[in-house]
Amino acid sequence: MASATVIFWVIAAVLIGFVGFFILLLAGAFKLLRFVLRQLLWEFSGDRTEVYSDVGAPAMKCPRAGCGHVNNSVARYCGRCGQRLEH
Ligand SMILES: [Zn+2]
Repeated sequence: MASATVIFWVIAAVLIGFVGFFILLLAGAFKLLRFVLRQLLWEFSGDRTEVYSDVGAPAMKCPRAGCGHVNNSVARYCGRCGQRLEH
């Protein structure tokens, strides 16, 4: 009977490990989805920034080569690559 108990606990440990792994996987997928959504939203707000820049304040274009992302005029760091923007 002792071996049956051991087998039960081994199966329980494997199940708990599997469920934990699955939860981590789901959390990772959720994070990725949120990141993609945020990127999409940022693209959208970038367009809005360009419209806003027509009103007065000039939009800040990222100086880093290969980026060139147009940021909000009050932004201190590039929204795409994190480059510090000089005003
Ligand atoms: Zn940039």
